[in-house]
Amino acid sequence: MTVRGKAGVLRAIGEPFSIEAVDMLALDPKRVLVRTHASPFCSTDVKNWKGQLYKIPPTILGHASIGEVVEVGSAVDQVRVGQRVVVPGTPECGRCYYCAIGEPWQCGELFDLGGIYPDVARGDDGALISCAGCVGGYAEYMSISENQVFPIESDLPSETLSMLGCGITTGVGSVFNIAKVQPGESVTIVGAGHVGLWIVQALRLAGAGTVIVVEPNAARRELAGSLGADHLLDPAVDDSLVRVRELTGGRGADVAFEAAGPAASQELAVRAVRRGGRTVLSGFEIGGAELVLPQVETALQSRRILSSQNGQVHMRSDLQRYAGMLERGLLDGAPILTNTYPLEQLDLARERSGSYTDVCGVIVFDH
Ligand SMILES: [Zn+2]
Ligand SMILES: [Zn+2]
Repeated sequence: MTVRGKAGVLRAIGEPFSIEAVDMLALDPKRVLVRTHASPFCSTDVKNWKGQLYKIPPTILGHASIGEVVEVGSAVDQVRVGQRVVVPGTPECGRCYYCAIGEPWQCGELFDLGGIYPDVARGDDGALISCAGCVGGYAEYMSISENQVFPIESDLPSETLSMLGCGITTGVGSVFNIAKVQPGESVTIVGAGHVGLWIVQALRLAGAGTVIVVEPNAARRELAGSLGADHLLDPAVDDSLVRVRELTGGRGADVAFEAAGPAASQELAVRAVRRGGRTVLSGFEIGGAELVLPQVETALQSRRILSSQNGQVHMRSDLQRYAGMLERGLLDGAPILTNTYPLEQLDLARERSGSYTDVCGVIVFDH
């Protein structure tokens, strides 16, 4: 029997989302049908809506989610109907080159697709509709590879746990898995949005020393301060690079995280660390954009530039661990989750993400 549900479809770049009923396609043997509980509206989807990252309409955006498995394909053996599952932005197939060498955050099941994602639904006009990033979370139902659904056990509400799949994994993983911040180290964060604010929270757990946040939005600076950042710089007023050096013994920070997107922010994050310091880049702005770096500071002065793709987490172990940190209050979702929206208000969620009104607005579904 065909499953029919509402979806927020990107029919044309830059046009309002089309909230429409779609028929889910019959499941392939290794896919599962998930009834969506909650999907955070990620700032990356503001870029996708503008066409900056080359998504191909018609498609359903939303690359992280949580829901309940309601049907499994004939060859699925990793999850079963009724399980609550996190659907993160990255699969772990366990068999591709990257999974085999222990780097599942580059899993070929997603990144070898070259941006051509599976069709999961059909609109009433007959058009096949794909799931961007292999998730398609802005819809009542998601058709997902069994390698991209991870059972989770927690009493926390789904809107909180929905942030596990992109923001929490990227922010927390960047601190512990990539930069491996040591107690007392000085840190600069460029950008205090969804990812940057999880980084601030994780730094408190890591026992970081001086934490400096560079952020143009006053409300976000204030939030970063309330979550434990020591120094809040406004790039419109402060010479960020000069101030970071002043606050770190003239050297620059031990570690810098970039969580904003513009190339200028990335360059600042590289320049803001001391000789031999490490910079973790997680933001990006436009597909095809380039980053220009100073030769001496990078080649001669031992600065290390690291990439964060979903925090380089291992989904099968880290998602449950991070859920436990939320349950124990070690991580706090409340200040990050600034609004919830029904699917009908997907464009409002997009506008409030794009205008920095929301840190993270979550699309919620009541089935
Ligand atoms: Zn995201
Ligand atoms: Zn893989």
